[in-house]
Amino acid sequence: MRKLEIGTSVRGRKIMAYRVGDPTAKVKAVVLGAIHGNEKAGITVARAIRKADRKKNGERGRIKDVDLWVVPTINPDGVVKNRRQNARNVDLNRNWGVKWAPLSSPYYSGKRAWSEPETRAFRKFLKQVDPRFVVSFHQPLHGVGTTDKRPAFVKRLARQLGLPIKPFNCTGQCHGTMTDWVNGRLKGTAVTVEFGSRPRGKYLRNRAVRGTIRAVLGRLP
Ligand SMILES: [Zn+2]
Repeated sequence: MRKLEIGTSVRGRKIMAYRVGDPTAKVKAVVLGAIHGNEKAGITVARAIRKADRKKNGERGRIKDVDLWVVPTINPDGVVKNRRQNARNVDLNRNWGVKWAPLSSPYYSGKRAWSEPETRAFRKFLKQVDPRFVVSFHQPLHGVGTTDKRPAFVKRLARQLGLPIKPFNCTGQCHGTMTDWVNGRLKGTAVTVEFGSRPRGKYLRNRAVRGTIRAVLGRLP
């Protein structure tokens, strides 16, 4: 399966995942372009990764050594409106069932953990794939977030992407985040990557693509 509908948003928009690379590779990874609808740089990277995987004859699989799932966004309603939250005003990166707490706008965390279809869909997908690496793109803090789980992965990402390592503290509201859920509940390691406020398109389509693929132990000829 090269393309999978992993769920639908509050407004009924499809949430899609695209499989690139080598489906038989031992290392599985997931790249999430955008969880916040007004942070679109990662969607550009996601699109460019899919393009980089395409061979001249249109066949897929140019990326080697990694079984890579690309999810452009789990927040299609937010992307359409160019806003951080989903259609019910929930910050989808505060709605996960790890240290969930009631938070108010702009970090409104929903009525309860898992209240939103987008977070439930991505949880199910992540459990199914059970990836070793998850890369979650954001803006604009310019850096790669720390994690205790696989520091070598963080270092690799930072070096490959040319970004500094920073201890992001969820803007002081570290509750119910996707990366904490992955790191606490799955075997894999999730890392936050923050591009700047206006990263150059050339950087996103070239270095960010190669760097992300290399950091998840893939290879692009
Ligand atoms: Zn964000």
